[in-house]
Amino acid sequence: MPVRILDVREATVPIASTIRNATIDFSQMTISVVAVITDAVRNGQRVVGYGYHSNGRYSQSGPIRDRFIPRILAADPDDLLDDDHDNLCPARVWATMMANEKPGGHGERSVAVGTLDMAIWDAIAKIAEMPLYALLAKKRNQEASGRVFLYAAGGYYYPGQDMRALCDEMRRHLDEGFTAVKIKIGGASLAEDRKRVEAVLEELGPHARLAVDANGSLDLRMAVAYGEMLREYDLLFFEEPGDPLDFALQSVLAGVYPHAMATGENLFSLQDARNLVRYAALRRDRDFLQFDASLSYGLTEYLRILAMTEAQGWAPSRMLPHGGHVMAMNMVAGLGLAGTEFYPGLFEPWGNLPDHCRIEDGYLTLPEAPGMGFEANSALFEAIKQATA
Ligand SMILES: [Mg+2]
Repeated sequence: MPVRILDVREATVPIASTIRNATIDFSQMTISVVAVITDAVRNGQRVVGYGYHSNGRYSQSGPIRDRFIPRILAADPDDLLDDDHDNLCPARVWATMMANEKPGGHGERSVAVGTLDMAIWDAIAKIAEMPLYALLAKKRNQEASGRVFLYAAGGYYYPGQDMRALCDEMRRHLDEGFTAVKIKIGGASLAEDRKRVEAVLEELGPHARLAVDANGSLDLRMAVAYGEMLREYDLLFFEEPGDPLDFALQSVLAGVYPHAMATGENLFSLQDARNLVRYAALRRDRDFLQFDASLSYGLTEYLRILAMTEAQGWAPSRMLPHGGHVMAMNMVAGLGLAGTEFYPGLFEPWGNLPDHCRIEDGYLTLPEAPGMGFEANSALFEAIKQATA
C-alpha cells in the first residue's frame, strides 16, 4: 500500500535556561517540534514521525507553517514516495519542501526544513521497522552496533559561578561515564579562560580529555592570542574560534595552533560546507567537522555533505556533529562518524538519554527501537506528544 502523509503539525516549545556562552544567553530560547502523521500502521499503531531541532536557533514556526507544511500537504502523494511506493522518499519530500526557494541565504529556512526532515526520516525508519542507525548502515552496506561516542558539552558561564563549581560539574561528567568534556571559552578574559582550562585539566587528570569552544566569538587578533595560549595544553580540540564564515581567520589559525580544531555547527548547507573544506585550511588528519543535520536542511542534506567530504578525502571518523539530539546519535552509529556531543542536565527532556541507558567508558549503546528511538525515551516522548497533540 502506498504511504500517505495525512497531516503535519508544528509547536513551539521553550527551552530557556540561565546558561551563557561567549555570544548568547539562553533566557529566551525556544525550539520547534513537529509531527508527520502517516496512514501507515505498524504493530497496530499509526506511524507518526517526530522531529525537533538543536538548541541555539529558536523556533521556526513561521517558515514551517507558512511554506513547508503547505507544500508537503499540497503535493501529489505519489510524488513523495520511493520507487517501490512502499515508503516515503526523503529526497523527494525534501525537493517538495524546497520548491520555489532560491539558492543561498541559508540562515533560518535550513532549520525549518531540517526539523521536518528529521520527522520524515523517523517515519521512514518506523515504516521499515528498523532503528534509524541500522537503516543508515544498511544503505552503506555496513554493520551497525548502535554504539556511539559521546562527550559532555558543558562548562557554560553561569551567573556567579566560581572555579570550584566548574570543576564540580566536570567531576559529575566523569562520574556519569564520560571520557571527554567541553567547556566554553571567549566569554571571559583570556587570563580568566586560561585559569578555567588549567583548573579543569587538573580536575580531569589522566582520565579524560578536554575540548574548548569559543562559539565563534573571537576576532583574528584574539583568535591568534587564544591559539598561542591554548597550544601549550593537550586539548581534544579547539572549537569555532571565529565567525563561522570567516574561513581566512580559520586558515591563519591553522598556522598558529598545531592541534585539532573543530568547526561547522553554524554552516547550514552543502555549499557552505564545501566552502569550509575548500578555503579554511582545515586538516584532514586531525580536525573535526561539526555540521548539525537538524539545523542544516536535515539528514537528507547531511548525506550530501558526507558524500562531498568523503570525496574530498575526509574520513567519516572526522565528522563530529553538533546537536545533542538522538538523530545525531543515530547518524554516528549508522554512518561511522567520530561521535557527538551530549549536554548532561541541560535542555531536559530534549537532550535526555534513552531510558535505562548509561554512558560507559565514553560510549552509549542505542536501544533497538524503530525510528529515531524517541519512544524509548519516556520523558522526551511525553514532551513531544504533548507539544504536537
Ligand atoms: Mg559549539
